[in-house]
Amino acid sequence: MTSAKRIPHSSTTVENGDCVAIVGAGPAGSFFAIHLLREAKRQGRALDVVLIEKRSPSDPEFSAFQCRGCNYCAGIISPRLNETLVENGLGLPPEVIQQQINYVWIHGQWKNLRLRVPEGQHIYSVYRGSLPGRRGGTPTGFDGFLLGEAIGEGARIVHGKAQSAAYGADGRPVVTVKGVSGEVFDIEASFVAFATGINGHYGLDPGSETLAGSIRGLNPRFVPSKSRRTLIFELEVGEEYLKRNLNNEMYFIEYGSKRLAIEHTALIPKGRFLTVAMIGGCVDRAVLPQDSKRIIQEFLALPQVDSILPGIGSAPLGCVCAPSMTVHGAASPYGDRFAIIGDAVASRLNKDGLYSAYITAEKLAKAVLDQGVDERALKRGYGKAIGRLANDNLYGRAVYAISRTAFTLPLLSRVAYQAFATEYKVHRQGDRPLSRMLWKIASGTADYGEVLGEMLSWGVLRSVLSGAGITLRNVAVELLVGLKWGKFGRYPAVVPVERREALKEEIAWQLGMDLGPAQGFERMYAIKIRGTDTEIMEQLAKYGKSDARFLQLRFVHARQTRGTPNQPGSVIEYRFPLLGLSAELTLARRVRNETLFYAADDGLVDAGRLIFSISPLGDGNRRLAIYAAFDYKKGTNLASRLFWKTGHLLFPEFVHDVVWNHALCTIKDEVEQRHGQPDFGRADESEAQPPLIRL
Ligand SMILES: Cc1cc2nc3c(=O)[nH]c(=O)nc-3n(C[C@H](O)[C@H](O)[C@H](O)COP(=O)(O)OP(=O)(O)OC[C@H]3O[C@@H](n4cnc5c(N)ncnc54)[C@H](O)[C@@H]3O)c2cc1C
Repeated sequence: MTSAKRIPHSSTTVENGDCVAIVGAGPAGSFFAIHLLREAKRQGRALDVVLIEKRSPSDPEFSAFQCRGCNYCAGIISPRLNETLVENGLGLPPEVIQQQINYVWIHGQWKNLRLRVPEGQHIYSVYRGSLPGRRGGTPTGFDGFLLGEAIGEGARIVHGKAQSAAYGADGRPVVTVKGVSGEVFDIEASFVAFATGINGHYGLDPGSETLAGSIRGLNPRFVPSKSRRTLIFELEVGEEYLKRNLNNEMYFIEYGSKRLAIEHTALIPKGRFLTVAMIGGCVDRAVLPQDSKRIIQEFLALPQVDSILPGIGSAPLGCVCAPSMTVHGAASPYGDRFAIIGDAVASRLNKDGLYSAYITAEKLAKAVLDQGVDERALKRGYGKAIGRLANDNLYGRAVYAISRTAFTLPLLSRVAYQAFATEYKVHRQGDRPLSRMLWKIASGTADYGEVLGEMLSWGVLRSVLSGAGITLRNVAVELLVGLKWGKFGRYPAVVPVERREALKEEIAWQLGMDLGPAQGFERMYAIKIRGTDTEIMEQLAKYGKSDARFLQLRFVHARQTRGTPNQPGSVIEYRFPLLGLSAELTLARRVRNETLFYAADDGLVDAGRLIFSISPLGDGNRRLAIYAAFDYKKGTNLASRLFWKTGHLLFPEFVHDVVWNHALCTIKDEVEQRHGQPDFGRADESEAQPPLIRL
């Protein structure tokens, strides 16, 4: 039937009534079909577009487009892809969306950074196919949705595996397909787009003698894209657990441990499942299924993972796979009347592969209709787009090398956190170059060239330099006053500048009093704690006690000296033995389990108050906030003015920041350690569903 040798066909464009075959009905294939059909219609050309997909429908009675299995992916729809989908009338239907993500966390060696999804942008998590099997009902996935849209535009679907492709007698490519019932048939087309991805055994695996081999027959210069092994697993943790621990949030963890070489892990909530996707040396080296099992066990036992997802080690596994991810694009991925799109040609490094599938599909559809289908026309119209993607990935490698170093080395990670926190503390939204740049990396929403440019800009450098200075200063304070971080989790306690007034008003409202305008010193800190208000109050009752893990300072002794802890009248005495000074804080008011209001005597400061405020959060957790304010004493004569000035210099504002930040982290740690562990045993184990995998 077919010959590997090409005899050029007279026309080098696709004509009215021509057949265009697309091998693979994943995102790239469907996007290509949609663009091609829409644009052809606009130009007055009617094309017969055939999508060839090896996976058959999971439930033909429910939908012909939702295919069995899945296309192996973490399933994050980036803001840029979402915007593009909406612009193209392909906005995600509610049944495809598993979760809307409002916050993205970057978990570095020092602390976690929280990035809010900016107003007007949207990140969603989706499933690509019908897995994990225990989802139940009629599982809907992103790929099935897109395929349905392509069919809606007029494409046809043929279920079967494309085995080979070669030029036919008249120079058109012919694809040989093995249908689902085993029958073998040919599809002759004026143009073929290969959108097989890199994960099918029948795809473009390097060395594969099947499809990749025959594409080399179409263009001997073709070299398949290079890939890297990844690991994805789904844990069935339940909606309640996700709400408490990852409430519309996703995490990127940038390190593993000495034993477990991990570069990047994404934690993504989806309904009652948690998707974990990772890359790293340990995954590269894994060969056998038991290697993956060991990696999962060790990963779930990492302290940084347990701090985000308490007790996760006992969660049952829904499914596991080890797909490949494109890391280097293919060479010469087009020739007369054929081209490769999606992962099989190139993908954005580590992020937003679906967006690159969109870009390659869109550019190819334009090239085919506007420029023609011979190799020269495709090089002109499509080659440049792939070249841009490849070049951008070069910048991407530099971006990841720098950010990985920054988040993996403890000191640099602390500098990065401090720079980030200082931007939030000092600058208003819109004037935070470092967090803007981090957002672009985390969300995958900008080209890497743009990100690298920002990374090296003066704005980011200035933030990093100020972060470095503040880190050195804070380390010095910690050494001086004897604060030790130990093993417990470190969390941001900064209140962004634009949130400060609102927080102050909330605290004032809890107390039913006006806190007045800002005084000489006014600071606020806040932390989220997984625990009840009673559990937090129990920790606050240790204020000034020898068994408290917070406020155990060298040179400053805080002791509860009179009254009952946490009850009005309780007195905390601060003594500065070296200076022979002391002052007292008296618990003046307590509002239920919400607020403790301490008033300071005038020994060291004027009008001093310290307020602890606990309030419930929408995810069932609590926020513990601290409000501290006082007026500096000024003195009445030269000697006393000098004395108080020196005191101010000895105890500048930032000392309070360091001490209270440490205190909040220890309180959080103590509460969370005592708080109950989750019970995943309640997950439904009915026989109608595929069994859970227990590690
Ligand atoms: C661990 C991991 C996590 C990822 N997470 C994300 C993420 O969160 N967000 C994101 O945007 N991207 C992510 N990606 C990248 C994303 O999955 C890919 O970029 C995307 O799937 C590429 O789409 P595609 O259509 O080119 O290929 P695929 O999705 O692989 O689709 C190929 C299709 O072709 C079919 N096929 C293959 N061979 C044949 C054949 N011979 N005959 C007929 N049909 C065939 C397959 O069945 C499949 O349906 C991730 C990738 C990995 C590995």
